[in-house]
Amino acid sequence: MKVCKSKKMNTILRWCVCLLAVCFVMQPASIMAKSSKRVIRYNGKDYVYTKSQVNVAVNDKAVKTPFGGIILNNISMLPAYDTFYKSELGTYYEYDEISNELTLETVDTAVRLPINKKYMYVDGKKKTISQATIKVYDKNTKKTRLMVSGRDVANALGFQYEWKNSKVTSALYTEEYLDSKDDEMDTDTPQEDNSNNENPDDGQIEEPDKDQNNDGEQPDNNTSDEEDDTDGVSIPKTYALKIPKPEDMAMDSYETDDNYWQKEFTITFDDDYSEFYDENSIIKKKSNVTNVSVSQDKNDCTQVVLKTSKIQGFRITETKDALYVEVDTPQKIYDKIVVIDPGHGGSDPGAQGNGIAEKDKTLEIAKRVKEYFDGEEEYKVYFTRLADSVSGMTAGSSGVKDSRMSLPARYNFANEINADLFISIHLNSFGSSANGTETYYSAKNTNKNDWGITSKELANRMQKAIQNVINRQNRGVKVNSNLAVLTHTNMPAILIETAFVSNKTDASILKNPDKMDEVANAIYDVIVGTFE
Ligand SMILES: [Zn+2]
Repeated sequence: MKVCKSKKMNTILRWCVCLLAVCFVMQPASIMAKSSKRVIRYNGKDYVYTKSQVNVAVNDKAVKTPFGGIILNNISMLPAYDTFYKSELGTYYEYDEISNELTLETVDTAVRLPINKKYMYVDGKKKTISQATIKVYDKNTKKTRLMVSGRDVANALGFQYEWKNSKVTSALYTEEYLDSKDDEMDTDTPQEDNSNNENPDDGQIEEPDKDQNNDGEQPDNNTSDEEDDTDGVSIPKTYALKIPKPEDMAMDSYETDDNYWQKEFTITFDDDYSEFYDENSIIKKKSNVTNVSVSQDKNDCTQVVLKTSKIQGFRITETKDALYVEVDTPQKIYDKIVVIDPGHGGSDPGAQGNGIAEKDKTLEIAKRVKEYFDGEEEYKVYFTRLADSVSGMTAGSSGVKDSRMSLPARYNFANEINADLFISIHLNSFGSSANGTETYYSAKNTNKNDWGITSKELANRMQKAIQNVINRQNRGVKVNSNLAVLTHTNMPAILIETAFVSNKTDASILKNPDKMDEVANAIYDVIVGTFE
């Protein structure tokens, strides 16, 4: 239970960054149109552009662009798509129409450029920029491009930038290219033509934005503070998110909740850090996270909510300055994956008798199993349901959305996450005298997991353990190849018929919470034992 003190009156959603990629897909450049009277449109207005068209070169090769760069307030503005994404630079490019932001990323650095703003975020840090990023439509070529301040953005991303006045060219270089050139020619990088004044002629352009002043802050290209961040902890190379931490946040002062049915992962901090996250952005490096939002929960604790389009695994590495969240398939993140399937649910009660509905009892046992695994980080245990029904569950390729959770939804769920074991919990029913425990496996499921466990082996171990607890008739291990959850699962799978609801003595055992806890403990022990 967290107790968060409200530092602010406003406890509603602080901000929400929709990171869903809405990529600018454009045709490659054709022939550059030459026109003496060139009209471009941005910020909703037409402008006559009479200055020179700026050429772009990357590593001394001309970059094809539909209409080149433009000069605005003596700043060379370059088409981001062609310059950074389509060229040798190969920078990741994503334009989000909802937040109206352009993101450019190299392996080391992410630069976010809000459109029409005179700043950018370099790895989440706000920096001023010489000229606001604009969306330009060129009437001659009928093409649209996001134009960015070439020098600022190139430097922020770690590229060398030169203005070549005589050639009216913005030249960009990678470090690798300059190194190899140094080796070849044994000269320094060309400097002679590198003027800061990117104004090759006296042409005029009507300025939409008269405010040319920087707001006092000097752009700061120091983006390499990550090395100081490690604290001896090695930062995962392929993290999906970097969540900066406020200075006063202690280590380990967060909790996580993997709501995999909703494909949602929540990190809850133990205080209200909304002001901090207003100023410091979360950096997204991988597209498998479709949305990240920061909000306050009902206790005024700050929550970061990640959305994914598929069920994903999550691993957090914490340093003193940030949380690094790795997001990948469960198989890549977790070593030991188990699916527990409490039988029936929702509109399907399963067997009923002696005041017991199968769906409730299987759920109770599953929840008790969960308690045994809670806090055991070595195992990742998924449940096909932890409520009567899971309405939002669309696991598996069939995308089943079913209040009673169909059998395909259950085995598709296990297959999708590549579980190492699948255990379905059921109760039996037949007349009033039949009693005891039996465990099923399918002869058609001959999968062996990485620990050498087969369905039959798992069934043998489980039958023995549950039999010891229930201590009624030992009905043994049975083969049934018609049970869908056992036959269609791609991993060792069993179905436990714990006891009979139709038998009075069995029912009294099922109603005994201590016995149900023992059953859960037995299931836990068997699972842990198979991974040894
Ligand atoms: Zn059943």
